[in-house]
Amino acid sequence: MPASKPRTEEEPFWRRKTLEEMTRGEWESLCDGCGKCCLHKLEDIDTGAIAFTRVACRMLDLASCQCKDYPNRKKHVPDCVRLTPTRVRKIDWLPKSCAYRLVNEGKDLYWWHPLVSGDPDTVHQAGISVRGRAIREGRRVKLERNIIRWEEQT
Ligand code: SF4
Ligand code: SF4
Repeated sequence: MPASKPRTEEEPFWRRKTLEEMTRGEWESLCDGCGKCCLHKLEDIDTGAIAFTRVACRMLDLASCQCKDYPNRKKHVPDCVRLTPTRVRKIDWLPKSCAYRLVNEGKDLYWWHPLVSGDPDTVHQAGISVRGRAIREGRRVKLERNIIRWEEQT
């Protein structure tokens, strides 16, 4: 029986480590900075289906697609979801492009991921991020009127 291909140290960490095995720095760097998970979502009370809207959390910088105060985000938005390996497995609304979801599913990162390209802008250039597509939340902004299917656009 042929030996399976050994995992070498030369392979990048996201190919040879599970989510649990990653260091804090590796874990944080795995986020591609798309900002999609910082968009408001709506849940269908009958089916439980989750729909994304293009309305962003008030703490999301729409230009950089970064949280305005990431270290203290829970103080600003108590229901902000902190991803963990367990939550990555449980949450069914993470976008298909999300690096945590990809790694958890045993898939590789795409060319536009900053860890692959070496450039934090490629996630925007490839049209994966919410830059130019998300809008600010506000009293007059109705989530129901801003449902969007990101996966069909990327
Ligand atoms: S969807 Fe995933 S990769 Fe994109 S910002 Fe959220 S955690 Fe990071
Ligand atoms: S508080 Fe920051 S990390 Fe949390 S959803 Fe809002 S923008 Fe995203």
